[in-house]
Amino acid sequence: MGRIQVLSEDVQNLIAAGEVVERPASAVKELVENAIDAGASEIRVDIEAGGTKQIRISDDGCGMDEDDMALAVQSHATSKLSSPDDLDHIETMGFRGEALASIAAVSKMTLESKPKGLANQEGHRLTIEGGKVASLEKQGLAEGTTITIEDLFYNTPARQKFLRTPKTEQGHIKDMIQRLALANPEIRFHLSADGRDIVNAFSVEDQQQRAVEILGSTLVKGSYECHEDAGGIRIYGLVGDPSLSKNGPKNIYWFVNRRPVKDRLLNHAVQEAFRSLIPRGLHPFSMLFIQMPTGEVDVNVHPTKSEVRFLNSQAIHRLVSQAVKKTLGGRSHTMDEGRGRKVAEQCPTANGPMIVPMSGGDIVEQPCGREMTTNNEQPLFTTGPFSSLRPIGQFRKSYLLCERGDGTLVIIDQHAAHERIGYEKLKEQYQTTRVERQGLLIPDVVTISAKAVGYLEEALSALGEIGWEIEHFGGDSFCIKGIPALLGNIDAKVVLEELAREIMDFGTFNSNDEKIDLLIKISACHAQIRFGDRLEMGEIQHLLREMDAFEWTDRCPHGRRAVHEISQTDLGKWFDRV
Ligand code: ADP
Ligand code: MG
Repeated sequence: MGRIQVLSEDVQNLIAAGEVVERPASAVKELVENAIDAGASEIRVDIEAGGTKQIRISDDGCGMDEDDMALAVQSHATSKLSSPDDLDHIETMGFRGEALASIAAVSKMTLESKPKGLANQEGHRLTIEGGKVASLEKQGLAEGTTITIEDLFYNTPARQKFLRTPKTEQGHIKDMIQRLALANPEIRFHLSADGRDIVNAFSVEDQQQRAVEILGSTLVKGSYECHEDAGGIRIYGLVGDPSLSKNGPKNIYWFVNRRPVKDRLLNHAVQEAFRSLIPRGLHPFSMLFIQMPTGEVDVNVHPTKSEVRFLNSQAIHRLVSQAVKKTLGGRSHTMDEGRGRKVAEQCPTANGPMIVPMSGGDIVEQPCGREMTTNNEQPLFTTGPFSSLRPIGQFRKSYLLCERGDGTLVIIDQHAAHERIGYEKLKEQYQTTRVERQGLLIPDVVTISAKAVGYLEEALSALGEIGWEIEHFGGDSFCIKGIPALLGNIDAKVVLEELAREIMDFGTFNSNDEKIDLLIKISACHAQIRFGDRLEMGEIQHLLREMDAFEWTDRCPHGRRAVHEISQTDLGKWFDRV
């Protein structure tokens, strides 16, 4: 045996990495948790080859300055804890300051970040290889953070051997993202694998709506709402009908203080409540949130923080079992008793008003989209001016009629609104990361007027920056190979002809920005929803939620009005009532 020595920091980091970063999904988990802690409202994850080749995570959170970036990748460097006492009441997802250092030790990492509030300044880009800083430079960036991990485990062959097929690793990543998304409905989550969308969850108001996005409405509608409050501990969420049970406990989702966890004791408690209802070997569906004082649960017991330890585990077991039993026991109860009503029964049509339980189990009727919370502490979500409207319906397949809480009738021009959203999104993609492109399977060839050729040719690189991939074929022919992904199913030819016409009419531009802005406007005008498109209620609600994502002037990018309001008083006056 050799002499005892303190391991060098490199080796320490490799060992820590072995614990924190078991597989690509654990790296994804740590990075997404960091983005959540950074207050992001949108988190985007792109992976290649199951995350083994590349993982890229972008957020619009608080960002970091140059000094913090260098610190963040050192081990035990955290902004979330400062004294040992803090460990007793952890409110953040991370707290050990180990993740970035551990991941950096076993990969090639690039950190790009810019703090919030420095719109006119540059951000920084830091590259690290095998835990060592390789470069640090200034870089024009949007506010927020993007972390890219390449070749995970390239320097730890032993770990690499344990990786499963990319497909399996991708499955683990998807599961991880889904759990994190279920816990954070107000955050928009996007996961793509090898360029294909895997998870795409828009910001919604509550966990139930998020569950519909992630797990599907069949599961949610086949479930019962559970809510139990006892001794400062609150349990709420969904318990599936016994008929939804499956092999394996994969369908049991736990969240303790909004942290996704796996816990056999909690599984057992649910299983016990279902005992007489499902055959042995089957596992029910449940998605339950436990809110409890941070001092009564220790989250610092597992390297990947996926397990917790309860101060009084027996009491929690009892409480969970009791809550689930009550929910199931009330399955056939009447509305008055207010328990155990299936989500589907509460929401007779997906379009109608939703009935939501308020504290105490009373059922009250509220318009869909209103702030709904089963939490009597702070709400878990916020609502905006549009998503809080109650849609009444669509008029002439062109205008959305909605009712606001104060009795005002709000009329929205669906195409103008959608155009504005398309414009803002394209602009945002252009200004932040890069505009997503959608390749055309069969390239479209367009012939434009000879006069416009020169103008279009000059605009090709600007068009490229906003997602168009166009080549000049020679003469007056152009070939369209790709379009901005946001535009969906458009007739690319028609749009390009219009683009060419407008660019020519416009003549000269003062700056590239001005040119880009015009091109974005024209492109956005062709985004999916137009006048005459029938919209389902769900699509209307989706549109309203999207409208909230941007600061709204009541006009479309072309300056047409998009929103008109008629107050109840004005209506009353018109009918000689006031
Ligand atoms: P922990 O999350 O436990 O603090 P990490 O190693 O995961 O440790 O991160 C170290 C620090 O880096 C964090 O405390 C935080 O200050 C900063 N950080 C990491 N990721 C981000 C991010 N996406 N946005 C802003 N700051 C971040
Ligand atoms: Mg962390």
